[in-house]
Amino acid sequence: MDWDDFARWGARLSDWGADYHKTLRDRPVRAQTAPGEIAAQLPDTPPDGAEDMEAIFADFERIVMPGITHWQHPRFFAYFPANAAPPSMLAEMLVSMIAPQCMLWQTSPAATEVETKMLDWLRQAIGLPAGFAGVIQDSASSATLAAMLVMRERALDWQGNVAGLSGGPRLRVYCSDQVHSSIDRAAWVSGIGQENLVKLPTSGPQRGVDPEALRTAIAADRTAGFKPAGLIAVTGATGMGACDDLSALTAIAKAEGLYTHVDAAWAGAAMICPEYRALWQGVEQADSVVFNPHKWLGAQFDCSAHFLRDPDALRQTLAIRPEYLKTHGQADVTDYSEWSIPLGRRFRALKIWFLIRAYGLDGLRSRIRNHVTWAEGLCETLRADPRFEIVTDPILSLFTFRLAGGSDDDQIALVTRINDDGRVYLTQTKIDGHSAIRFQAGQFDCTEDDVKAVLTVLDEMTR
Ligand SMILES: *Cc1c(COP(=O)(O)O)cnc(C)c1O
Repeated sequence: MDWDDFARWGARLSDWGADYHKTLRDRPVRAQTAPGEIAAQLPDTPPDGAEDMEAIFADFERIVMPGITHWQHPRFFAYFPANAAPPSMLAEMLVSMIAPQCMLWQTSPAATEVETKMLDWLRQAIGLPAGFAGVIQDSASSATLAAMLVMRERALDWQGNVAGLSGGPRLRVYCSDQVHSSIDRAAWVSGIGQENLVKLPTSGPQRGVDPEALRTAIAADRTAGFKPAGLIAVTGATGMGACDDLSALTAIAKAEGLYTHVDAAWAGAAMICPEYRALWQGVEQADSVVFNPHKWLGAQFDCSAHFLRDPDALRQTLAIRPEYLKTHGQADVTDYSEWSIPLGRRFRALKIWFLIRAYGLDGLRSRIRNHVTWAEGLCETLRADPRFEIVTDPILSLFTFRLAGGSDDDQIALVTRINDDGRVYLTQTKIDGHSAIRFQAGQFDCTEDDVKAVLTVLDEMTR
């Protein structure tokens, strides 16, 4: 392919992308594909000869597209959103064409300096105080792992990387029973271990950890000779949106010398609206906070904003400078690869710049406010309908409900029927050991009518 062909294909793919999005409502949200169906259409061996782009693209449309679940569909109400706003897509097109590696300041000064500015824009947008420095990680999972490694190194007087963990004290990290599986995996990968991730029970409408339970667990661990190292608190957990009382928990963590990380991967985006910030009151006391602009905000995957009160602790944990990475005469620059686990880094800040400028914070706020309002409206309609019962009230735009009087199997059967129908996409969760159906609104192009389509589908599917 020469560059003239590239230009022709680039223009054609942009047209294809616009048509795809304009006609997205006509497609089933969740792929209606059986396991193995796509693989069966691909040859078992790679071609030895070159193939024509026309043939490659035709196969993409014929084989791949039917097996896609449409995350940008306006009636995607499953999991959490993974929004890709058009200006963010354009920025990613530019980045994919320039394809820079942004590991050191020197390897693309613009990428580093735009990243520093954009993370400060985001910091202000979500109301974190000055003094937090930000970095873009590929995912919240990586940010949480990085934070857990800091907890480990800090608790081991920065000797874990040097000496390894064997023979060291047994470190303990505390969190709620609502946390995302990425917290468990961070405990595995960091060498802290599942058994030393202490999951505390939650209660109340927000399903937060009881601060007394945290205090008691820390005291018991100290008595047992263990070493409390950190706390992972959550704002907007995946199941039903659980929020810990950050003021109370961070106060205890601070008094006990623990490093605190806040996982607000989904809910953090909503904090651009000041009226929701009560959900994470006390966040300014944390050492580390992560939220995903790649979820609700509209900067497409991958883009996870990680804020640190003391980036030196992270650098002390992760920085490594072999000879080939040394740069000379640039003592005062930021090398973001020292803040993250992978060395290579994409230029992710450009899409934040395009996104925020193209909509303004007000444009982004109004989307999030609409989603919350429409989710609350749907919840009230279901509450008034005797066929359904609300299991957990909305936290932001997320609530859970059940078919009244139905068994767990009935709830799963209903979700399956809805998703096989394809007009909307919902998923299930477990609340207090029982299956519940989960609804969240957050897709960028979602309208109130799209949310109301859930009622139409529920009505037909329960008849
Ligand atoms: C989505 C989510 C994660 C994981 O985010 P990734 O960026 O996919 O790693 C972690 N925690 C919560 C609360 C989430 O909603």
